[in-house]
Amino acid sequence: MPQYDYDLFTIGAGSGGVRASRFAASHGTRVAVAEQQYLGGTCVNVGCIPKKLMSYAAHMHQEFDAAAGYGWTVGIRAFDWQALRAAKDREIARLNDVYRRLLSNSGVTLMAQRATLVDGHTVSVGGKHITARHILIATGGKPAMPDLPGIGHAISSDAFFAMPGLPARAVVAGGGYIAVELASILNGLGSQVTLLHRGDRLLRGMDAELGSVLAREMQKKGITIRLQTQVTSMAAGRSGTQVTLNDNRVLHTDCMLFATGRRANTDGLGLAQAGIEQTANGAIAVDADFRTNVASVLAIGDVIGDVNGRLQLTPVALAEGMQVAAQLFGKAVSADDNLYRHVPTAVFSHPNVATVGLSEEQARAQHAAVLIFKSEFKPLRHTLSGSDERVFMKLVVDAASDVVLGMHMVGAEAGEILQGFAAALQCGITKKMLDRTIGIHPTTAEEFVTMRQAL
Ligand code: NDP
Repeated sequence: MPQYDYDLFTIGAGSGGVRASRFAASHGTRVAVAEQQYLGGTCVNVGCIPKKLMSYAAHMHQEFDAAAGYGWTVGIRAFDWQALRAAKDREIARLNDVYRRLLSNSGVTLMAQRATLVDGHTVSVGGKHITARHILIATGGKPAMPDLPGIGHAISSDAFFAMPGLPARAVVAGGGYIAVELASILNGLGSQVTLLHRGDRLLRGMDAELGSVLAREMQKKGITIRLQTQVTSMAAGRSGTQVTLNDNRVLHTDCMLFATGRRANTDGLGLAQAGIEQTANGAIAVDADFRTNVASVLAIGDVIGDVNGRLQLTPVALAEGMQVAAQLFGKAVSADDNLYRHVPTAVFSHPNVATVGLSEEQARAQHAAVLIFKSEFKPLRHTLSGSDERVFMKLVVDAASDVVLGMHMVGAEAGEILQGFAAALQCGITKKMLDRTIGIHPTTAEEFVTMRQAL
């Protein structure tokens, strides 16, 4: 039996890596984690957390507008980007510390250095070789910037969070999660925003109506959306950056932001040296147990990409981390534990979008007959606020079994509402059970249990 320095060596202290390391250590094993950058990874530092904080800030402007309809007089409004950025940075520093304590309290050794693979049981950290029975790669992803002339004039979502000031004009390229979230933040804080998307609808992969309803609502808030449009080049202009589009039109902007996808963070990791295989798009190839082709090396989180339709989300990486720790050191994991079944997700655009289960398009492809229930309305809150924002809700039901296959929503707090319904879908809820559920009145969520007429 070979002796190793550690039972588990994790590369990357983001959501998945920290969770796997802590859970592995709770089984009485010797665990080390190496992190060259910040603790908490993308989510804590340049993703979910700063994005949601900035999204709250951007929403305030809508609250001030709404207040007048409720009898309030709101005084002079002024927004200070530096103040928001400093407050956000303080919160992130606090969270970095929380992660540090979580690791040390669990008995995990933290190495604040870069680790590279040497072979299936060895990593190199600061020039020193360290051995481990298992190695877990959890290095996440990073923005993929397109190779276009003048790309140096553009920024990625990472740089967005560190911008020195709020741009007066912003152009955002992309039609996915990050593009619509950051476009909404910029719009809410006061920038004049143009969103460019190469496709013909936003949020590809989700129910088609979510993208079209969201586009309509974002346009009502003043965002210019240009579909089937792509940037071809950028250059320094007389006033800001000059952006040329595929139809030869030219835009002038103070901020050109690309949110056109992310890629696995594997640069210089030593994958080739250790003989680890990658997929065509550069992600680490793993089997259903998260093992690479070298059995002692595993990988979880965004570094494994979207294999088997997995979503690149923090809670998915957390679940993978716990499964790997249980698999290696705890009790065996049942083969029917499909981590990726009914993963709910929310997009924190303005308004929010949330979804769980199958889209109408997926359901029609997989089931002989589906029933669709839909509702669109002005929520009670906006009867006095003066806002013309509308809520959209949709249920997709299997006609044969009455099982609810998917639930979709565009509207305030969509994520908060669908989190509970996601548990119901996991339990196999039928439309009849939803009908038997008493609503909470007056709420927006009650509409999901009162839709009676299939279209
Ligand atoms: P997405 O994959 O969601 O969207 C990428 C967008 O960029 C798509 O609209 C895509 O168009 C477009 N695109 C891709 N390549 C090009 C190109 N060369 N030129 C022009 N447009 C292009 O990626 P994001 O970067 O927005 O987010 C990455 C992942 O991070 C998400 O998929 C999600 O899993 C996660 N995330 C989750 C959040 C949340 O939970 N709220 C928030 C932010 C990110 P097309 O549709 O035509 O392919």
